[in-house]
Amino acid sequence: MGKGPIDAELIKEIKNELFKALIESDVDFDIAYAVTETVEQRALEEKELPKGITRRQAIINILYEELTKIMGDKHYPLNLQKGRTNIIVMLGIQGSGKTTTVGKLANLLSKEHWKIGVIAADTWRPGAADQLKQLVAPIKDVEVYAEPKEKDPIKIAQRGIKYFKEKKKNVIIIDTAGRHKEEKSLIKEMNKLTKKIHPHEVILVIDGTLGQSAFNQASAFAKATPIGSIIVTKLDGTAKGGGAISASAATGAPVKFIGIGEKIEDLEKYDPKRIVGRLLGLGDLESLLEKVREAKIQPSEDQAKALMKGKFTLKDMMEMMEQMNKMGGLKKLLSLLPGGFGAQLDDNAMNVSKQTMEKFKVIMSSMTEEELENKVKLNRSRIDRIAQGSGT
Ligand code: GDP
Repeated sequence: MGKGPIDAELIKEIKNELFKALIESDVDFDIAYAVTETVEQRALEEKELPKGITRRQAIINILYEELTKIMGDKHYPLNLQKGRTNIIVMLGIQGSGKTTTVGKLANLLSKEHWKIGVIAADTWRPGAADQLKQLVAPIKDVEVYAEPKEKDPIKIAQRGIKYFKEKKKNVIIIDTAGRHKEEKSLIKEMNKLTKKIHPHEVILVIDGTLGQSAFNQASAFAKATPIGSIIVTKLDGTAKGGGAISASAATGAPVKFIGIGEKIEDLEKYDPKRIVGRLLGLGDLESLLEKVREAKIQPSEDQAKALMKGKFTLKDMMEMMEQMNKMGGLKKLLSLLPGGFGAQLDDNAMNVSKQTMEKFKVIMSSMTEEELENKVKLNRSRIDRIAQGSGT
């Protein structure tokens, strides 16, 4: 039928177009190349597309999956735990926005009711400690520890930690130097510091306007110490943020926050759809991905028939609900029932049934295996126990 070769050509064409978009967004050449090769391979394996979506949409969906394998498929929280003194070390080249980001993070975490101490351990930039003090001044209960005369950042960090532990702080953020006489000694110093301090989270701050050099910069820091997360700054401007993916690829760490301005509140949680949408220059990536996701949900006719005959146990229902807790899936399942049931439901009705389903889920999570499989009768005491357990 000649359909195969035409598709292969179309796939290549779309791949080339997306490769170009990534390069224009300053994504590292090798990464853009490797990712789009994988995307092409995966697209070629997808012989039949789900109904209702175009090849281009399917390919963008694959590219999204591949890019978020590198940068993170959701916002991963910082490694903070109640009941201990959490230590965060911030790394980054001078000018990356590191000190500003320390302030932004202190602000955000203080809103989450953490008790924060900030240590100024940048012994290379004379004004760094004052800049930190000014930055955090408006934030309630955040204190800065500095030792203007001490030249050894490790000593400052150690004494600062002791000081804040006595003050019962539960998050300590250490601002480090971003410059040295040469890069090698900076990396060495960061290696020594993290070895002595044992931080729970090492954050690398990367300037979002960096292009191809982001990869090497991030790799250099990753040699000093394992990086736990990336914060990309300056994404409020025209920068498309290609450096974000380079930094993640070079360190193996997800992007957790992005900086979107100079003010203390200008820090946002990483949202993969927005970042990838920006990288690809696609404004409405979210609805495209949603469309593909919904098209891929294919409830079987057997499932629908079993439901009609009442052979469905609560456990089946729970599994099904997990599988398709989105409207697309539910509506599709209902539309397979005789009488065009699904089509009769408007969006309001669908929303109500969604809420009801959420409620069912909570109730069912308080039930035993036997109860879910209809093996026992639900008597009064069982009903009371389930009601109490689920707060309904
Ligand atoms: P450091 O040398 O890495 O500590 O960098 P600074 O925190 O001093 O920041 C360098 C410059 O970048 C300052 O002028 C900051 O106001 C600015 N900056 C930091 N983060 C952002 C951001 O997210 N957006 C914008 N537009 N500017 C930023």
